[in-house]
Amino acid sequence: ACNAKPTGPIETTECDYETVESVNEELYTHLHELVTTPFFKYFKLDLYRECPFWKENGFCMHRECAVTTIDESQVPEKWRAAALSQVQTTSEEQRKSFPGCYYRDSDFCFFDDDGNTDGEYLDLTLNPEVFTGYAGPSAHRVWSSIYEENCFGISESTLTGSPSTQQTSARPLGLSSMDAFKAESADAECLEKRVYYRIISGLHASISTHVCYENLNQTTGEWGPNLECFIDRVAAHPERLQYIYFNSVLLLRALARVEPWLAAYDLCAFDGEQEKTKEILGNVLNIAKKTGKFDETLLFQGENAQILKEEFKDHFRNVSRIMDCVGCDKCRLWGKVQVTGVASALKILFELDEKNLDPKKNPNLLQRAEIVALINTLHRFSESLHAVDVFRGMWAKDEDPT
Ligand code: FAD
Repeated sequence: ACNAKPTGPIETTECDYETVESVNEELYTHLHELVTTPFFKYFKLDLYRECPFWKENGFCMHRECAVTTIDESQVPEKWRAAALSQVQTTSEEQRKSFPGCYYRDSDFCFFDDDGNTDGEYLDLTLNPEVFTGYAGPSAHRVWSSIYEENCFGISESTLTGSPSTQQTSARPLGLSSMDAFKAESADAECLEKRVYYRIISGLHASISTHVCYENLNQTTGEWGPNLECFIDRVAAHPERLQYIYFNSVLLLRALARVEPWLAAYDLCAFDGEQEKTKEILGNVLNIAKKTGKFDETLLFQGENAQILKEEFKDHFRNVSRIMDCVGCDKCRLWGKVQVTGVASALKILFELDEKNLDPKKNPNLLQRAEIVALINTLHRFSESLHAVDVFRGMWAKDEDPT
């Protein structure tokens, strides 16, 4: 199973696994450089928000679970809360003068942005996503709750607008119920539900790939790729690997769509950095334009399209709140970054029409946090595909030691 490569077209996309595979090393090189630039490495996050669904006691005491925060003075002044509150007055006026502008109700998640006075800045490059030792009932409960958001239907709660959050906290959250939901989604008749499952399972598989790639051998104390871990968690379930590709294409398509807007975006980085950052971003966007062939027009069609879209959005927003229940700071950080990244892609694909994508008319279309999350999430998936290649090499060597 480890050596098997998915082939052919990815459902709901025009492009195929081979295309993603053929550009991934180049994409990964550019992304790897891009995420070290000042604009893309700082992320603001409130790590101390309580879990809104259950009393979470599963705090991870391992050293690797901790994060390093930085002083706000290290972050360019233009991005800080005080400066942004002035900008927001202007954008309120702009909001009135451009009726085509988007509002926060089109967001697919709750996220902290630079304008939020709570929270702290983190340098993502100082807090890499690696094995932390966070596991057991707390981690399982979080995954299980996320899969349980995969419950779509034109239910009464949807029609009356009550959020599915209540359902999440009321349901039993054992792994057996997760399996039941997974079985249900395998038979799903509705494309949107399948897409939701693929996104979550792909995200889970990508996190597992990182955990196995940057793994700590607890006996020898050495760090390095752990092939057995990767086989158990990902390669023995080929569909999980396919969903990593699926997420990559979804994110690439979102970047391709928002390319004219992003190309005109003022990165406000440190003096002298803007040109360099724009050039690397341009390289990533060029690859996205060639490979981001996800056909978003197939989703949210038909009679109940709008209701289904609102449900999808509600579920994703709940997932972003479930992240406050992750009992390991570093896992919570990367969980939030990646949920924000995928949610931003969904917003770009499903909420914004061409008129809104005009950078002159709508300069505040996306918050800095959304752009940073989108790029860092694509970097995570691209790094997972890079790691998969390394694991394939290890597997081949084990099979044929000559
Ligand atoms: P888990 O990964 O916890 O999975 C639970 C069950 O879900 C499995 O038994 C299986 O039935 C099913 N499952 C597993 N993968 C998939 C899939 N792709 N699709 C569908 N079903 C699946 N740990 C770290 O060391 N570093 C991190 O950075 C990190 N980040 C995390 C971020 C979040 C948001 C969460 C919730 C957890 C994170 N963890 C992290 C913990 C990690 O994901 C695992 O939960 C932990 O390593 C225990 O793994 P496990 O083998 O028990 O199975």
